[in-house]
Amino acid sequence: IIEVKRIEKSFGKFQALKDVDLQVDTGEILALIGPSGSGKSTLVKAIMGMLTVDSGSVRVFAQTMPNRNLLNRLGYMAQNDALYPTLTGRENLNFFGELTGLTKDRLKQRIEEVATVVKLNQHLDKKTGSYSGGMLRRLSLAIALLAEPELLILDEPTVGIDPELRQQIWLELHRLASLGTAILLTTHVMEDALESDQVLMLRNGATISRGTPTELMTRNHVDNLDAVFIVAG
Ligand code: ATP
Ligand code: MG
Repeated sequence: IIEVKRIEKSFGKFQALKDVDLQVDTGEILALIGPSGSGKSTLVKAIMGMLTVDSGSVRVFAQTMPNRNLLNRLGYMAQNDALYPTLTGRENLNFFGELTGLTKDRLKQRIEEVATVVKLNQHLDKKTGSYSGGMLRRLSLAIALLAEPELLILDEPTVGIDPELRQQIWLELHRLASLGTAILLTTHVMEDALESDQVLMLRNGATISRGTPTELMTRNHVDNLDAVFIVAG
């Protein structure tokens, strides 16, 4: 579903991505882990077609991004919430939900379901301008989940979310993956990496390790462990 080959990206003289390869297949969950500034969001934006790469290739559903035709097949959650503060939670969900092409009835039903997943039912009729940081993250995640898309790209979906809710969100992500949704997420914490099928660890824009969570945990590369502690701490 996502195929990234040997991409490089520089901002001026600063090289943010160095020769990164990545692949996410149907039903697969891949976690991008790495310290702040390691290039996770840059990689996500390159996949979304929000920035152009200097070399290498990015394919999503075997097509070049950005691509309007793919909008209803893909749910995206940016690291910075892009919501309408003067609208309520429900109105935001409705607005973005209509863009996905869900029918009115199905949208109404999904709004209740995703609001339950992120525990926002009690707050749906408040303006999002009054939401806390964690509530905004949860609403952004709910919007990405609305259409049960074939591909989810989530930039730090669990920031500001307590452990109990994190578990609930992971239940939903695993449910979607079992239906075939491919999921790419970025994270600072090992808990999220351990829930994933594959982990790609970035540092200074380069891949320093990749594999299943178990492979990563049992590999006692001093370098890698070091990175794990940086991100977990
Ligand atoms: P975090 O965990 O804090 O979100 P990250 O791994 O997502 O970090 P990126 O946002 O991808 O990191 O940034 C990687 C590096 O690229 C940083 O040094 C950042 O300053 C730099 N960078 C990102 N976007 C730009 C830009 N538009 N112009 C210049 N430098 C940029
Ligand atoms: Mg980031």
